[in-house]
Amino acid sequence: MTVRVGVIGVGMIGRDHIRRLTGVLAGSTVVAVSDLDEGRAREAALGLASAHVHPTGQDLIDDDGVEAVVVASSGDTHEGYVLACIAAGKPVFCEKPLAMTADAGRRIVDAEVAFGRRLVQVGFMRRYDDGFRALKDVVAGGSIGAPLLMHCAHRNPTMGPGYTPAVALAESTVHEFDAVRWLLDDEIAAVTVFAPRRNARSLGEQDPLLLVAETASGAFVDIEAAANARYGYDIRCEVVGEDGTAELGAVSPVVVRSDGAVRGRVPDNWWERFERAYDVELQDWVDSVTAGEATGPSAWDGYAAAAIGDAGIEALRTAQGTPVVLGERPELYIKV
Ligand code: NAP
Repeated sequence: MTVRVGVIGVGMIGRDHIRRLTGVLAGSTVVAVSDLDEGRAREAALGLASAHVHPTGQDLIDDDGVEAVVVASSGDTHEGYVLACIAAGKPVFCEKPLAMTADAGRRIVDAEVAFGRRLVQVGFMRRYDDGFRALKDVVAGGSIGAPLLMHCAHRNPTMGPGYTPAVALAESTVHEFDAVRWLLDDEIAAVTVFAPRRNARSLGEQDPLLLVAETASGAFVDIEAAANARYGYDIRCEVVGEDGTAELGAVSPVVVRSDGAVRGRVPDNWWERFERAYDVELQDWVDSVTAGEATGPSAWDGYAAAAIGDAGIEALRTAQGTPVVLGERPELYIKV
């Protein structure tokens, strides 16, 4: 069976997912595209055998030829498109963030629960990264004991003026929020955000940020969000347990020792660092569409990450520890 996919938003990652769905993965094809910029949509369709270009994302969702939808438009459009997919009963892979606020995330959760079956997968690709999966196996295996602390860093080489602290918390560290919940199998209960001395190289507002989270079981997590690390795209993660520690290994394919120095490669950007994870993630989605129910990161996970982001923005504003209140997890999202 080949899943007929429509892609909404054909910017950087939308086009990359089209390449994946048509040339890398098994069991999928792209039959429709749409973008606010119609010229960009036409260009994206050029390389496809026979893809329909729809003037709006809603038209694409309404197209009977489209069985499943990838939402890769700007973050503030995700809620509307995901709700429309649920209303149409169509499986949807939504790039992160699922929603820009907890309220928006909750509306998606409520709509999916009312529908009665999981249709939504959120693009938290770290769950599909070899390094993060190996780290998860060690933590879950128990060899380092109960987690006490976790240290994370999310460093981008450089960001434009649009990269504000609110964007950092709602759109960037959203990956860490999900990774922490998934790796520790624990909820984040409260956050505090610190703003150290501003990086003079920042083109925008405050950078970096340091977020400290407390989990429901009492572990503490620090997350560094840096937009101007200069030297490359660097994702770090270490879990400190009662009996040992586990951290992501080096990602460089080769380490060179010469002239009294050790050198390895640091990725330039997110697509270099996570290229394989995106492939595995989207194949998992295609397979789950074929099987009839979404199994990857859920609308609940997207909602929880948005709620942590909201609390982070409030914590930054008030310079106070801020609780994250999720409410009860619906049965649809409880794994048996
Ligand atoms: P991008 O290059 O700016 O592409 C977004 C595209 O969506 C643009 O062509 C934009 O058109 C279009 N668009 C905006 N509003 C729309 C609407 N209402 N309907 C249809 N199309 C619309 O951004 P990107 O880097 O590809 O990111 C897209 C999404 O993926 C974001 O949510 C981002 O956070 C996420 N993302 C996730 C990862 C990851 O690691 N999982 C990595 C990168 C991006 P205009 O330019 O005309 O506005």
